[in-house]
Amino acid sequence: MIKLSARPYKLVSREYQKQDTVVDVAGVLIGGDSFQVIAGPCAVESREQLFTIAQEVKKAGATILRGGAYKPRTSPYSFQGLEEEGLKLLAEVRKELGLPIVTELLDIRDLDLVASHTDIIQIGARNMQNYSLLREAACTGKPIMLKRGLAATLEEWLAAAEYILQEGNNQVVLCERGIRTFENYTRNTPDLAGVAAVRVLSHLPVIIDPSHGSGRWFLVTPLARAAYALGAHGVMIEVHQHPSEALSDGEQSITPARFSRLMAQLSRMKSAFAPGERINLENMLE
Ligand code: PEP
Ligand code: MN
Repeated sequence: MIKLSARPYKLVSREYQKQDTVVDVAGVLIGGDSFQVIAGPCAVESREQLFTIAQEVKKAGATILRGGAYKPRTSPYSFQGLEEEGLKLLAEVRKELGLPIVTELLDIRDLDLVASHTDIIQIGARNMQNYSLLREAACTGKPIMLKRGLAATLEEWLAAAEYILQEGNNQVVLCERGIRTFENYTRNTPDLAGVAAVRVLSHLPVIIDPSHGSGRWFLVTPLARAAYALGAHGVMIEVHQHPSEALSDGEQSITPARFSRLMAQLSRMKSAFAPGERINLENMLE
């Protein structure tokens, strides 16, 4: 193991803190033995779309609703999100269904608006190394979901999380969403070994995004099952009632019916492990 003083991060390291950090997202705990399923559309498109998906994913057992109001799109001609109107719709659904919300903060100029509408602030892959954004987001005191950068090493990812902890905010959930490799059948390559490694290197909870991790809807279910067995603390999944009509990421979105079948499988997988065994590091390292 590298000496603590020689690493670019300290507060996030397992040596600094032995016990797992548990992140409280409006009463939903991410960390420890729990496996939280965050689900919802890639982007908030309309009231009808958001309410339909939110009701379906809640019924199937999702505990947090996702939905982008500000979308970081590769092309400036693609749908950029409903912005403030999208945030308002998320807040409405939250009030009506009691599901906490995660949504992305794309630009520091929207900090107050986003922070006042969301329960956990998502920092996207493209902004993982936007250190001023990380610091400002940390200072809101809200939990932060920090996605791994498209080409970030584990060390760079953890060092980015260190910026948030340095501001006195330890409520950070790491999210593996796949990295860019030479493989282009899948949109990204989900680094499953990296997730297991992060569980050893850091006390922060880590979840997997099988949707951006694969870019293909039929790979989402197998990857989500792998996330559970691997010892991740949850998954974040894109769901759409009409994937072929989605304004963004339809090809990696699953239908509510498929989502509900996945939830049933995840719940049957629970009996494969004794309490605590799935995430027990001693088991892993002995
Ligand atoms: C998203 O979750 O909507 C998203 C844009 O993800 P990423 O930052 O991982 O590309
Ligand atoms: Mn998406």
